[in-house]
Amino acid sequence: MTVKFYSGEKVPLEMHKVRIIQKLNLLSVDERLKAIKEAGYNTFLLQNKDVFLDMLTDSGVNAMSDRQQAAMLIADDSYAGSESFTRLHNTLQEIFGKQYFLPAHQGRACENILSTVYVKPGSYIPMNYHFTTTHAHITKDGGKVVEIFIDEALNIESDHPFKGNIDIEKLKNLINEVGAENIPFVRMEAGTNLIGGQPFSLENLRDVRKVCDEHGIKIVLDASLLQDNLYFIKVREEACKDMTIREITREISDLCDIIYFSARKLGFGRGGGIITNNEEDMRAMREYITLYEGFLTYGGMSVREIEAIAIGLEETMDEEMISQAPLFIEYMANELLKKGVPVVTPPGGLGCHIDAKAFLSHLPQTEYPAGALTAAIYIASGVRGMERGTMSEARDEHGNETLANMELVRLALPRRVFTLSQVAYTVDRIAWLYENRELIGGLHYVDEPKVLRFFV
Ligand SMILES: *Cc1c(COP(=O)(O)O)cnc(C)c1O
Repeated sequence: MTVKFYSGEKVPLEMHKVRIIQKLNLLSVDERLKAIKEAGYNTFLLQNKDVFLDMLTDSGVNAMSDRQQAAMLIADDSYAGSESFTRLHNTLQEIFGKQYFLPAHQGRACENILSTVYVKPGSYIPMNYHFTTTHAHITKDGGKVVEIFIDEALNIESDHPFKGNIDIEKLKNLINEVGAENIPFVRMEAGTNLIGGQPFSLENLRDVRKVCDEHGIKIVLDASLLQDNLYFIKVREEACKDMTIREITREISDLCDIIYFSARKLGFGRGGGIITNNEEDMRAMREYITLYEGFLTYGGMSVREIEAIAIGLEETMDEEMISQAPLFIEYMANELLKKGVPVVTPPGGLGCHIDAKAFLSHLPQTEYPAGALTAAIYIASGVRGMERGTMSEARDEHGNETLANMELVRLALPRRVFTLSQVAYTVDRIAWLYENRELIGGLHYVDEPKVLRFFV
């Protein structure tokens, strides 16, 4: 929730207390410089012991609750027919109203299965925006990703509440152009990761459904970042303000044919899965679960994580629980803006996104400004962020560089992890860096993997 101080200042207030802590280590600036050089200026390659505040990602590092930890102790360790699986399955059925659940070890594993089953050479997959691993799987199977976002999506400074919406006209045009038979599904990503954690509206999803119904096209929801999207629908969509989080979730689910998620984000655990009400779809995907993931009652997840996810999903239905991260992100973005630092607005979910193109306007995009700024932030603060710009794009089929639509540094705020003073420290260091931004030079690759090159 947010409180208004005597002074009039509005501050986000955590509705939880910290009961387990982990000691942090803040290296000196010389040690940080040495560490980032050894990592080749790639923050993925830093050792966590050399990181002060780890804002690389929200994946698998959200703080668990006492109830989740307690549930992990009563996990039922059996290969087949685990009680833990039944508990998670029941929770998913209750929240989403979908009958079948195929477990998988994480989000990209679900993408592998969806892509293997539905994407063929010549397939077109329209979506509000791509995610790195989604794009890699679809192109691997010969499909083409077509982004049909609204024009406002790429506007960094904006007050559009739903920059994750699909442009309905673009969707209709694409269907006319390539034919519904070449579109196995429309992919809707909750909380669009790569453009700053921007949500779609419930109204937009209803409109997408209408078009898809006219042409018999399925909708697949990537629900990895659903938790933030739910919160934004509740607080930004006038028509939904009296709906509960559960009601919003249920309507979203009813509008989609297949939902997959990374439980490293959704549900404060580690794992993932695919849910659907369609038996034929379930059967088509099921055989790949046993082939790639594991037996159907664990799918590569530990039973302890399965228990934690079941409780985490229930907590996700609690508005107070899911408001913490978006409110902290909003606070961080607003404090940075006050100091002149360019950030994506409106603030989204997942993290605070800095506009590296504007921050480092002296660097050409071919020198990876987002990568350079991410490394510089680590040197200046010990805070680890992630490059979300041209380095995170794949080269095209001729090997040419694909310049990203946006050069962003993402400072993720894993849910329930950081305190407000840690956020204030980060803001202060970045403000200093902004004053001294001419110190920052560009980057180039000395070793470039062919697939998902930003990782290693
Ligand atoms: C993280 C993420 C994925 C992939 O999930 P992993 O568990 O990291 O494999 C897919 N889609 C979105 C939107 C994500 O944020």
